[in-house]
Amino acid sequence: MPELFFKTPMESKHPEEKGKVYDLIILGGGPAGLSAALYAGRARLDTLLIEKNLPGGQISITDWVENYPGFPEGITGLDLAKKFEDHARKFGTRIVLEEVVDVDLKSEPKIIKTSQGEYRAHAIILATGNEPRKLNIPGEEKFKGKGVSYCATCDGPFFKDKDIVIVGCGNSGVQEGLYLLRFVKSITFVERLQCHNAEKILMERALKEPKMKFYYEHELVSIDGKDKVESVTAINLKTKEKMVIPVQGVFFYVGLVPKTEFLRGKVDCDPYCYVICNENSCTSVPGVFAAGDVRMKDVKQIVTAVAEGAIAATMALKYLEGKKEM
Ligand SMILES: Cc1cc2nc3c(=O)[nH]c(=O)nc-3n(C[C@H](O)[C@H](O)[C@H](O)COP(=O)(O)OP(=O)(O)OC[C@H]3O[C@@H](n4cnc5c(N)ncnc54)[C@H](O)[C@@H]3O)c2cc1C
Repeated sequence: MPELFFKTPMESKHPEEKGKVYDLIILGGGPAGLSAALYAGRARLDTLLIEKNLPGGQISITDWVENYPGFPEGITGLDLAKKFEDHARKFGTRIVLEEVVDVDLKSEPKIIKTSQGEYRAHAIILATGNEPRKLNIPGEEKFKGKGVSYCATCDGPFFKDKDIVIVGCGNSGVQEGLYLLRFVKSITFVERLQCHNAEKILMERALKEPKMKFYYEHELVSIDGKDKVESVTAINLKTKEKMVIPVQGVFFYVGLVPKTEFLRGKVDCDPYCYVICNENSCTSVPGVFAAGDVRMKDVKQIVTAVAEGAIAATMALKYLEGKKEM
């Protein structure tokens, strides 16, 4: 068993946690959190990882990954997530499936409140990532699960031989659109910008697809139907003309929002609520580090998330060793 750095008796709503103080708690089990867990485990830190869904994060909803080094043939998002999880577990990190709802980062030890109780640790890594942004247009909430989706991998098979709209022509929208082609009859892209915003290699493939159509400088304004999606309305941003497109499905890829509600006012964030940290993953609070998409940064990819997870765990170890010597 890894040696505990500190032993402070504390109360916990989890009977097995009574008196327990971890060296490190990692919030979020996506690529960043799982990579941090691997490094922390190998450093023999007593580590807990808290994940609200299943480990893997956004890659679990990604059909195919072809830009992660070491997999020249590509790999499914689910397979890569499983490999990350197995690797993290191998070195002893405990993983619990609970949602973090609040934190006290100033107390010593730091307190993490979840849907089921409390955990304590001397160092924390924030790795709660992103989730798909919603447009909040009429019909979006009403038809969620009845034609409206944010996950091609999860819902694609439900749209066999259907006409669908994809909102957003960036990397995620085009990549997931290429995946959806195996199911659907047609895909119409609706994009606010004057042109696509996806990598060239993806657009080269998409533009060759006869089943794909692109409407730039258009905005989706409503999703309509009786019990399920029957059509969408888009507006031409130049001419203000409205266009009704008969479809049975709508997939949204219009950006992401950070999962940081529970951190408000507790750690410095940018105006979009991304956590601000330095190149060593240190946040504004001593002993609190951040890794992956939850950070304010430009490149949000698996390879950057896992690198930052490694840095955050290594810096957490340094922090704990420094405290121990004090
Ligand atoms: C459709 C799509 C396709 C993509 N394709 C690629 C690609 O081909 N190549 C590439 O490099 N990148 C790709 N990306 C981006 C890549 O997936 C992300 O950069 C990466 O997953 C970020 O990892 P992360 O660990 O920082 O965050 P995430 O993957 O977002 O993981 C964060 C985890 O934290 C958990 N969490 C959030 N809030 C809480 C809470 N309160 N309590 C407990 N747990 C919580 C979440 O459930 C999640 O599991 C894609 C993204 C999407 C959406």
